[in-house]
Amino acid sequence: MSSAIEELEIIQYEDVPLIDIKLPIRVDPTKTQHMAKEIAKIVRRGIKEYAGYILELFKKYDLKKSYFEPDYNRVLRELDTIMIDLDAFTKNVLTTLLSKGYEQGVTRATADLTKQGAIEKGQRIPETMRDVELKSALQNMTTHLITSVQKKFIDDIKFIIQKAIIEGTPFKDVKNQIKVKANTSMSAAERIARTEMVRSYNSAAETRYKQTGVKYVVWQASRRRAGEQPDERTCEVCTALHGRIVPVGKPFAKLKGKEILRPPDPHPNCRCTIRPIIIDQQKEKIRVKAAKAKGLALMPIKVRF
Ligand SMILES: [Zn+2]
Repeated sequence: MSSAIEELEIIQYEDVPLIDIKLPIRVDPTKTQHMAKEIAKIVRRGIKEYAGYILELFKKYDLKKSYFEPDYNRVLRELDTIMIDLDAFTKNVLTTLLSKGYEQGVTRATADLTKQGAIEKGQRIPETMRDVELKSALQNMTTHLITSVQKKFIDDIKFIIQKAIIEGTPFKDVKNQIKVKANTSMSAAERIARTEMVRSYNSAAETRYKQTGVKYVVWQASRRRAGEQPDERTCEVCTALHGRIVPVGKPFAKLKGKEILRPPDPHPNCRCTIRPIIIDQQKEKIRVKAAKAKGLALMPIKVRF
């Protein structure tokens, strides 16, 4: 098996100061896992209910005994109605929950910025047009991704029925095939929910950093359980990126030629985040000058989280 890490090209930046950072790999650093689970649960329930409903349709038109053209067409028409309902249901759920993910990014970025002294305690960073644009783009993109999964599910079901008519497949086999498709769709929806929740969070956080004049960000990897070492769910790429500092908005690395700007760029289900690095530029200039004048090696700036 070829490893993704071999295709990772770390990008170095000359203008990033020498920083000695202490940053442990944390459990669910975005704290969005419970929200992603909520989305996944609702989408899963939707697909499961519709799979059940499709089987009901089979009974209603007696498709388990024989497949007659007119009945089959009725099932197909009803599947289209199901799709419309499923679509509307998903859009409602996603709009609410993705906003929550974005708000979570705002809250936790604000907390980090306060702790590092970039903003006053209790100070709120006002929402801008950029937030409004980002939120709506994220919602549209995620809704599109999840409804595509649902559309594919309904299309696959149609295909199963068509094939069953041609081949005279026994009803119990058709039932099993529908179950398999439902499970695949549910897993896909769950993966999208998790990944896009992390994208919402990090987009919100990065916007806050840019707004408050933060110059650098650090990659914070995630682990499942508490402790110092990455666990089996922390991927090699995310582990390699952990603790790396880049100018805000600049890519951390390239993976197979594609830029990694922020989590979840490395892979679906990425749970990492970016955190702000606050450096007093004025003080830093003086420090560099002093070291040069004295002919001393420049000591790294200590940053602790
Ligand atoms: Zn990651």
